[in-house]
Amino acid sequence: MAAEVISARGIKVDLYDSMPSLGRKFLMAGKSGLNITHSEPFEQFVSRYGERRAQIEPMLQRFGPDELIQWVHALGIGTFVGTSGRVFPVGMKASPLLRTWLKWLADSGVTFHLRHKWGGWDVNSSLKFETAEGDKTAQADAVVLALGGGSWSRLGSDGAWVPWLKQKGAEVEPLKPANSGFDVDWSPHFRERFEGYPVKSVVLSFEEFRLQGEFIVTKEGVEGGLIYAASAFLRDKIEARGSAVMTLDLAPDRTCEWLVDRLSKPRGSRTMASHLEKTVGIKGVKAGLLREFLKKEDFQNAERLAHFIKKLPVPLIRPRPLDEAISSAGGVTFESLDEHLMLRSMPGVFCAGEMLDWEAPTGGYLLTACFASGYVAGHGVIRWLEN
Ligand SMILES: Cc1cc2nc3c(=O)[nH]c(=O)nc-3n(C[C@H](O)[C@H](O)[C@H](O)COP(=O)(O)OP(=O)(O)OC[C@H]3O[C@@H](n4cnc5c(N)ncnc54)[C@H](O)[C@@H]3O)c2cc1C
Repeated sequence: MAAEVISARGIKVDLYDSMPSLGRKFLMAGKSGLNITHSEPFEQFVSRYGERRAQIEPMLQRFGPDELIQWVHALGIGTFVGTSGRVFPVGMKASPLLRTWLKWLADSGVTFHLRHKWGGWDVNSSLKFETAEGDKTAQADAVVLALGGGSWSRLGSDGAWVPWLKQKGAEVEPLKPANSGFDVDWSPHFRERFEGYPVKSVVLSFEEFRLQGEFIVTKEGVEGGLIYAASAFLRDKIEARGSAVMTLDLAPDRTCEWLVDRLSKPRGSRTMASHLEKTVGIKGVKAGLLREFLKKEDFQNAERLAHFIKKLPVPLIRPRPLDEAISSAGGVTFESLDEHLMLRSMPGVFCAGEMLDWEAPTGGYLLTACFASGYVAGHGVIRWLEN
């Protein structure tokens, strides 16, 4: 986006990427439907950036969800609003959009240099690149770094830039997993039986957080939309206290009283599994979760069993590693940057995208803020070069 803004001004742009092709994470984001932005009111939209709202909001005022949708339309691609309010390009995929965009950039004079791994600056302040033809350097009047965070490193963003920017006086918060799964100490039996099973629809509560949705049982623990939505809170708690316990309501549409009433009915010769299913409809992975975390005697008492169906504590050990996360928290702090996203310690060097110190849930908020920051950095470059 920065390249587009700068080249539209008639300024020569060279775009370097370590990978053999561009936008690999963007393409991956499109694999399960490219959720480019969200249609909710702006006030609600900006609240998704939590502690960094103050820094992200001014950027979104310049290039926000509406401008992003118009931009997609200008590429000749339609958009639609899904049932959840999320916005997708028609066809859901990232590849038609990326292909058209790259052609547009090339036609505007942007030169692509692939398989160029940037490695910081040399003693002459030239940019250093590792390439298949050996090391190269380049000089530029202004530089925009949009190196991504540290997740899914096989797609290109490996976070290797952190020490290079620190050496140059930038303050960088450690990269941490955002929108990630968590490890749970499943018993071998539960893991074997329920790995890959979706748990739906449940309410996840953690301190002030409360949301209905679904998640998936994995070999190591839990992942999926509902877990990602709570992941920043759970991660911070684990970081501060060493562990976190999420609470699940396995029967969100039922009251505790209704459950007690039903569970108190005589069981007769039925097994507990069959009693649970017949009386309150709890079966499969939900029944498995109860067996995983409850003591045998808890099943004998209707009040206790109902209580745990409504408030099942699930201890989480740690977030899954950064490389597996959807996105990264941490990065170059806004205090290190001016309002044009130029590094205070390196005039002429701008930063944009996920490498900045902000985080947001899934729902199109990640890409929207990446585009917005690229737009702001691009205009920052123009201002820097023309003043
Ligand atoms: C599975 C998955 C699904 C996602 N789905 C969505 C979604 O639906 N909606 C949404 O809003 N967000 C989604 N995201 C998040 C979104 O894709 C990212 O936030 C976004 O791509 C970040 O953009 P970026 O340009 O800052 O970084 P990246 O897209 O990571 O791009 C950084 C680029 O820098 C290059 N690079 C890094 N280091 C160097 C170096 N040293 N030298 C040269 N080049 C380098 C990389 O090769 C890469 O091309 C998803 C992410 C994942 C992993």
